[in-house]
Amino acid sequence: MPGNPPPSHPVLSVVVPMYNEEDVLPLFVERLRPVLDDMTVGYEVIVVDDGSTDNTPVLLQRALRDWPGLRIVRLRANSGHQAAISAGLQRSLGDWVVTIDADLQDPPETIARMYGAAVAQNVDVVYGVRTDRTTDSAFKRHTAGAFYRLMRRLAKLDISQDAGDFRMMSRSTVDAIVALPEHNRVLRLVVPTLGFPSTTVEYRRDARAAGESKYPLSKMIRLTLDSITGFSQAPLRFATWFSLFGFVVAALVLVYVVWSKLNGGTTSGWASTVVILAVFSGLQLLCLGILGEYVGRTYTALQQRPSYYVAYDSDHTGPLGSAET
Ligand code: UDP
Ligand code: MG
Repeated sequence: MPGNPPPSHPVLSVVVPMYNEEDVLPLFVERLRPVLDDMTVGYEVIVVDDGSTDNTPVLLQRALRDWPGLRIVRLRANSGHQAAISAGLQRSLGDWVVTIDADLQDPPETIARMYGAAVAQNVDVVYGVRTDRTTDSAFKRHTAGAFYRLMRRLAKLDISQDAGDFRMMSRSTVDAIVALPEHNRVLRLVVPTLGFPSTTVEYRRDARAAGESKYPLSKMIRLTLDSITGFSQAPLRFATWFSLFGFVVAALVLVYVVWSKLNGGTTSGWASTVVILAVFSGLQLLCLGILGEYVGRTYTALQQRPSYYVAYDSDHTGPLGSAET
């Protein structure tokens, strides 16, 4: 069979995070496989089943039977998109590693162009840049736009608004990522900070081929909080400035109250009391929340627990039950 991997040293590793993708999985395999076979380089496809609860594991086992280039790594619980990609990167063996979503929003044909660009331009990272996101919902586009603007500002990162997690990386880049001890790493922000030479390849982002988005608002918010706390201390400084501001306001109010008391003024002021109480308790809770996010991150880092547990790896016989960060 053309393009089958030499078992020990593939040129290309394709890492695919998958969570409850039973609807799109057969389409994805059907479209990805010819692209890779045509590239005539040894490859491996590592599908990381992020604790799917639907038919995904069964379909994957079926696909495994007649695709020797496929490897399945199953996580014990749903650990999130970024953790799933990390699990795949950690196990990849290729000289080049590409990460791609399973829902065919990232067209597999682009992989061949990325590989061509990487070799021709002698770079370590090829970012897939979306030229057209009209297939994403308006909500997704706006929230994504706001996310990238915020991160560029807070973290002073030179990141493209249109680069997601579809990218090809050299072995040295992947080794550098895997060596990072941090948890909850947001790869699209981490990779640019590593400073490897890079280029971009443009592609049209298609609509999800089947099934529904596995990124509900709660996961989007989690990703945003991880991005902010992982890359910026601006919110903490904001809390400090607010406390100074609160102090000045409190001092002025105090002076005014004493002055009006001494001058026989009334101290009735239900409305002002309630407003001040409400505003400042709100601000205090906000600052506590900000602090909590950073403390939580520090706590997780100190615990050094793995960000995912592997239940099964098709490259080994039987469940491994191994854990890695
Ligand atoms: N995904 C995952 N774990 C999750 C959520 C998503 O592995 O907890 C995978 C999902 O199967 C897909 C990719 O991450 O391959 C991107 O997810 P999705 O397409 O649902 O996100 P969207 O394109 O809507 O942002
Ligand atoms: Mg998608």
